[in-house]
Amino acid sequence: MKLYCATGNAGKLREFRLTAENHALDLDALPGYGGLPVCEENGSTFEENAVLKARHYGPHAPGLLFADDSGLEVDALGGAPGVRSARYAGPGSTDEANNRLLLENLRGVRNRAARFVCVLALVEGARLLGTFRGEVEGRILEETRGRGGFGYDPLFYCPELAATFGEASEDRKLAVSHRGRALRAMLRHLVK
Ligand code: IMP
Repeated sequence: MKLYCATGNAGKLREFRLTAENHALDLDALPGYGGLPVCEENGSTFEENAVLKARHYGPHAPGLLFADDSGLEVDALGGAPGVRSARYAGPGSTDEANNRLLLENLRGVRNRAARFVCVLALVEGARLLGTFRGEVEGRILEETRGRGGFGYDPLFYCPELAATFGEASEDRKLAVSHRGRALRAMLRHLVK
C-alpha cells in the first residue's frame, strides 16, 4: 500500500518511514510539498492542526495522505509548549533556543512530568478517514543528554527506555514514542 505524508520535517519523515518499513508499507513525502501554499496551523489542539493540514494537502496527493501534528506537553507549564512546540522561543526558532527556553521556564521546578503527543489525520482527497493519537510519558531533565533525534529529544527522559530520546537508538525510540504509537494505530486501521 502506498501512503503519502505531508511534512517538510526530515526527522519526522525518517521516523515514519522506519516504522512503515517494518509493516511493508510504502511511505513517501508528498511530491512537491515544498512548492505548495503553506497551511496555516492555527488550531488550538493537535487534532485540529493535523486535520487542517491533511485537508489542505490531501487534494494534491495521488492517493491516501496523512498529516501530523505533534509536540511536548509539560504539566508544570499548564501543557505548554503544546501546539506551539516548534516555535516556542519565537517564529522560526531553533531546537537549541526552544530547549534553552524550556530549561529557563522550569528552573527550580520540581514537577518535571511531561509527555510527547502525536496526532495523525488520514485523508483521501479532502475527505477525512480518521485521526490517530499516540502519547509517551516522561520527564524533563535539567540538562541535555545524548546527541541523537531532534527537537526536545535530549531533554526528554523516558522511563520505559531508562534513557533520553537523544540517547536512544532510532529503533528503541520508535518502539515507545508518540509518533511510533500513532503511526502503528493508523496502520492497524488501514489493514483491518
Ligand atoms: P509540528 O511540526 O508542528 O508537529 O511541531 C512539532 C515540534 O514538536 C517539533 O518541532 C519539536 O520541537 C517537537 N517534537 C515533536 N515530536 C518530537 C520528538 O519526537 N522529539 C523531539 N521533539 C519533538
